[in-house]
Amino acid sequence: MGTLEIKEKQFNEIDKRVLEQIDQLIKIYGMPIMREPKTNNPLWVDVRDLTQRYVIPIGKIYKFFEYLNQGKLIGTKCPKCGTIYFPPQDDCTSCRLSGLTTVELSGEGELLTYTIITVKPLSFMHYQDYIVGIARLKEGINVLAWVNEDPKNIQVGMKVKLSVVKREPEGYITYELRKA
Ligand SMILES: [Zn+2]
Repeated sequence: MGTLEIKEKQFNEIDKRVLEQIDQLIKIYGMPIMREPKTNNPLWVDVRDLTQRYVIPIGKIYKFFEYLNQGKLIGTKCPKCGTIYFPPQDDCTSCRLSGLTTVELSGEGELLTYTIITVKPLSFMHYQDYIVGIARLKEGINVLAWVNEDPKNIQVGMKVKLSVVKREPEGYITYELRKA
């Protein structure tokens, strides 16, 4: 066996182990979240198939994932200017303020626009064609999410509900728009 083949074999085994660990995380926590061994900071381990698997630090907005796991959606709110952020972020971009408060969202809104994705980015290749839409929520914020509805039944202006769902085939908890 040549060096290259050995390297490739080792890589495949490591990759397989990582994938098994991610499956375990989803089984245990409902989401691919793990603790960074050194700092104990929570990390989101992306489950989409990329050439390079990446992790995103989520320590500052960890509450969002705890709520999501309970079927609830929260945003963050700037105590100074009142801007609501979703997906949540811990800093207000206009006030340069950190440590925003959390606010539970109704999820109720109206569809502003949508598009059917037939040409998918690499890491989304394994999905059927899907619909991405922007909804204006009651709270006055615009939310970008998948729209889980037959394209025939979708109309701009229709009432929608941002709902907590399981994204298949990975089986992790996320949110999407549905007809209300
Ligand atoms: Zn602000």
